[in-house]
Amino acid sequence: MKKLMAANWKMYKTREEAAMTIASLKLAVGLPPADREVLVFAPFTAIECVSACLGGADGYAVGGQDLYPAVEGAFTGEISPGQLKDAGATWVLTGHSERRHILGESDELVGRKTAFALSQGLKVVLCIGETLAEREAGQLQAVLARQLKEGLAGVPGDVSAADLAIAYEPVWAIGTGKVAGPAEILEAHATVRAQLAQLLTTGSNLRILYGGSVKPDNTAEIISLDNVDGVLVGGASLQAESFSRIVLA
Ligand code: PEP
Repeated sequence: MKKLMAANWKMYKTREEAAMTIASLKLAVGLPPADREVLVFAPFTAIECVSACLGGADGYAVGGQDLYPAVEGAFTGEISPGQLKDAGATWVLTGHSERRHILGESDELVGRKTAFALSQGLKVVLCIGETLAEREAGQLQAVLARQLKEGLAGVPGDVSAADLAIAYEPVWAIGTGKVAGPAEILEAHATVRAQLAQLLTTGSNLRILYGGSVKPDNTAEIISLDNVDGVLVGGASLQAESFSRIVLA
């Protein structure tokens, strides 16, 4: 399966800025290498514009950064899978650490969002990862196991590996400039792989992305590691210049 090179633009960019970034990214990357797939998680207001700018280009896709697990209804401020698809999204993020830790999302809600998004025909990147305190307390394995079990509750055991990916993002490495070392990434990704194999019949085939201070100069080493099937990039994805170097690393 292709390596998934995903950008998370968080709460950045107007539509004009988004369009300019996508135009520059397409210019710098062109047709992505045969073993790479490029995905941009844009703010809701920019999804339609990113989709139009991509113009169905091979190897590129756009996603939303969150969803509410209902078809429609009285959920002020929320967005449905149908609305995301209507704007051009084919993917969605669930469980990003900023939603868990700043917006207070529970494992249970992340699980409902993940299962519902898949049931409505969106592909999902489910994010998991431990805080520094949890790591220092020796809870890495337990935290990852709990987040995966609850995050995947309700997901069909035979979910297609093309439709679901996991992003391992240690919270202490997100936006801090502190990238996890190769040994830490290998250990965490092996744990995720083993858990996935227990939870899903397709678990050995799902892509596992690494996220946390990925930059153009550390990408090649990270994606060469066992069980690393792509990256989820925040800060360094905002500029086409640096994200294109990550995509091509
Ligand atoms: C992220 O937002 O998922 C992320 C990994 O951010 P950064 O690359 O800035 O650490």
